[in-house]
Amino acid sequence: AGGAQTRLAQLRQGVMVLMGGELEKRHARLHWPNTYDSLMVAGDLGRLEQVLVNLIGNALQAMADEPAPRIDIDVQASERQVTLRVRDDGPGLSEQALAHIFEPFFTTKSTGLGLGLSISHRIVQSLGGELTAANHPQGGAIFTLVLARAHKEP
Ligand code: ADP
Ligand code: MG
Repeated sequence: AGGAQTRLAQLRQGVMVLMGGELEKRHARLHWPNTYDSLMVAGDLGRLEQVLVNLIGNALQAMADEPAPRIDIDVQASERQVTLRVRDDGPGLSEQALAHIFEPFFTTKSTGLGLGLSISHRIVQSLGGELTAANHPQGGAIFTLVLARAHKEP
């Protein structure tokens, strides 16, 4: 037992606060339903927020040309895991990006550091979860974040 736990409501609301200004500035819509808000996942709020902020920030940058970017977060739960799928409407990932995206210093941006996803990947692994990247068949990138589900201790 032990280890930090975070309620999804706290994570969703924390990310909304952290990204609110940027989303507004970009006239972006972040669709993250509260259906699973009562579930708990393994991990502390700060590190989980860092992962989501990285994914959402990348999605906004990938949709730099879009006047009204849209990001969808789909949540699913099983007894042992909670899965969040972060999908954008940008150009998606090249073969090169798909192969190297989680390596430190891989970036396609002129001013990018290329550290956000490698750090996020390490955070998620340290929490016993998984972070993977793919292209959506209808376009855009989709990042799948699997977290270990925590069951509230009495
Ligand atoms: P940085 O954002 O500093 O480039 P990251 O580790 O966050 O570093 O991302 C690495 C690279 O992965 C990006 O430069 C970009 O090429 C690609 N990438 C990440 N997220 C997306 C996305 N949502 N759509 C398209 N490409 C992406
Ligand atoms: Mg980034």
